[in-house]
Amino acid sequence: MFNTHMDHVDEGDPERWPYPPYLGVVHNDEIWGRGTCDLKGSLACQTYTGALLKRAGQLLPNDVYVVGVVQEEVGGLGSAHLAGRLRTDYAIIGEPSHNTLALGHRGRFEVHVTITGKSVHASIPQLGINPLYSMAAFLLGLRDLTFEPDPQHPDLGPTTIAPSLFSSDQSSPNVVPGECRLILDIRNTPADTRPVVLERVRQLLARSLLDGAIGNAEIPTTTLTSYTGATLTGDIASDPFGIAPDNPLAQAAVSILRSTLRREVLTQLWRFATDAGHLTARGIEVIGFGPGHEEVIHTVEERIPIDQMVEALVGNAALALAL
Ligand SMILES: [Zn+2]
Repeated sequence: MFNTHMDHVDEGDPERWPYPPYLGVVHNDEIWGRGTCDLKGSLACQTYTGALLKRAGQLLPNDVYVVGVVQEEVGGLGSAHLAGRLRTDYAIIGEPSHNTLALGHRGRFEVHVTITGKSVHASIPQLGINPLYSMAAFLLGLRDLTFEPDPQHPDLGPTTIAPSLFSSDQSSPNVVPGECRLILDIRNTPADTRPVVLERVRQLLARSLLDGAIGNAEIPTTTLTSYTGATLTGDIASDPFGIAPDNPLAQAAVSILRSTLRREVLTQLWRFATDAGHLTARGIEVIGFGPGHEEVIHTVEERIPIDQMVEALVGNAALALAL
């Protein structure tokens, strides 16, 4: 299965772009615009793989599916739905790897933390329970909450937790808040499953509560609805994935690409999360191979080198023939 996604992130303020985000301007042999690198360029390469092979008169030894999925950027409804219905031996995720072979990434999920106290007029704080003090203790503890690298996948680096968004239930500066909320962005290794990390966060939260405050930490339930009306509800998250460089699929892919592209083909790990976890959860072995540089995705500098697209098209065709 060749797998790319059709959705993309918002373009933001068009004025901040060097070229209009949806004009497809070609400059210095690169196509500029939102979605070029993430992931329409790779989608085009995967789509034309079949056409290239047909034109070359090559018969495929196995069934090959080219899928363009929806809602990858918001949790992967498309791939999650697909993986329950279409089972292939292998999948090639076309996210940008500048045509190296990507063998894994950490997962991503959120934990929402709420601390509840007792709101009072700010002139008599001693009569309330200010949840901000407990949140402060929790935040300081979070800075020291560390995880060991996954022994099976040490190159992924350890699980990390980054507090990102904070809010309280008040908009007036002269009121002790009754509740404050914090969102944690968590990047996890395969060893640190979501329940494992959530339990660590909950233990820290329990230790951080002061003055009778009450704390709650949970992975939020989200519902995604596609344009067809299909829905997915749950703790929608990107699972980690990782295969060892000596895995037979990885070794075969490296040797196929090396002989076809006539150059060294390095392996790497992606820093960002993809739909891979939805596929590996169903027993599909995943590797990553796609044109473009990950540094430019989701930015106003998004662009894709045309020569990498040509090379990716050839590499895809070789993988389709030889895997
Ligand atoms: Zn993407």
